[in-house]
Amino acid sequence: MTISIRGYAAQSASTPLGPFQFERRDARADDVSIEILYCGVCHSDLHTARNDWGFTSYPVVPGHEIVGRVTAIGPEVTKFQVGDHVGVGCMVDSCLSCDACDDGEEQYCRHGLTQTYGSPDRIDGSMTHGGYSESITVKERFVLKIPAGLDLRGAAPLLCAGITTWSPLKHWQVGPGSKVAITGLGGLGHMGLKLAKALGAEVTLFTRSPGKEGDARRLGADAVVLSTDKAQMAAVSGRFDLIIDTVPYVHDLAPYVPTLARSGTIVLVGYLGPLEPAVNSVPLILGRKAIAGSVIGGIAETQEMLDFCGAHGIASDIEVIAMADIEAAYARMLKSDVKYRFVIDMATLKA
Ligand code: NAP
Ligand code: ZN
Ligand code: ZN
Repeated sequence: MTISIRGYAAQSASTPLGPFQFERRDARADDVSIEILYCGVCHSDLHTARNDWGFTSYPVVPGHEIVGRVTAIGPEVTKFQVGDHVGVGCMVDSCLSCDACDDGEEQYCRHGLTQTYGSPDRIDGSMTHGGYSESITVKERFVLKIPAGLDLRGAAPLLCAGITTWSPLKHWQVGPGSKVAITGLGGLGHMGLKLAKALGAEVTLFTRSPGKEGDARRLGADAVVLSTDKAQMAAVSGRFDLIIDTVPYVHDLAPYVPTLARSGTIVLVGYLGPLEPAVNSVPLILGRKAIAGSVIGGIAETQEMLDFCGAHGIASDIEVIAMADIEAAYARMLKSDVKYRFVIDMATLKA
């Protein structure tokens, strides 16, 4: 049986998000039904609501940093019970039979992952809707366990900001002795600092915002470099094994390339689109340097990250907001004025 639930949706790129009643698809035998308690606000929600990437299908209910409580399970569900605290991130299904899915990298499914919002469901074709809503129904394979002891509100951003920075840290084998830089201190950036530090790396923040230094150090940065200051950039020449670039908009990568060590990599996770100005290959070739990209992380890897955060007491630094305040939150996000992730208390949707 479909259920009718309340959420918040954007109806077009130019209309503010507002209340929206919609149907969730039928629960299936391998589904977990979840009452949503908290949902983080990712810059991708804003890009999608405003159609920055040109492929939004309206109405869209954003939200892919979901933490909630299990209210029902299908007969084939084995890993979860009613009452469990669970999470859902950016994807809710994939083909589950290609090489990427076989390798536990569902985010790189050859047949395209089903995103938590704005994707057609693989079985009935209905549009998925995200976490700015009362409840969600998700295939067990794509549901995560929230470790006991983690603050549920601070855990929500781990489902996207956490895994998106964790996955490149693990892929490029960051550990004690690694020199890592994070570009941009927002939702992703602050998780990058915390996770890289907890993995034992020496961590630097690149920021264009003077005034974030104190926070950056508290969050785990050993050093802070103002990216607009040529002398500060020159002082870190040849230093980093890995730079995770979380900047959401097009920006010049040329000043960052010389800060890579030999064989170092800049991994882009923020901006989607052509790089401008064009990147010169010469400093890449002469230093065996790379510019790469990465998207979220696999389900097993997401659980590994959550368990690591549980063991190390790592959660996101958050500002809790009411659902009705989402547009004000977006406006502050556009000004890089978030400390460091907004999380919606979904009880305010029901109020
Ligand atoms: P956010 O909280 O808004 O943080 C972005 C940070 O980037 C800002 O705090 C700011 O840091 C810096 N910044 C913003 N605009 C800039 C500009 N025009 N030039 C230079 N720096 C700028 O955003 P977020 O939620 O962390 O998301 C970051 C990006 O990652 C978004 O584009 C989002 O869509 C994308 N994303 C990708 C994935 C993936 O899987 N690849 C997953 C989640 C999100 P400073 O003030 O310190 O400079
Ligand atoms: Zn996200
Ligand atoms: Zn696949």
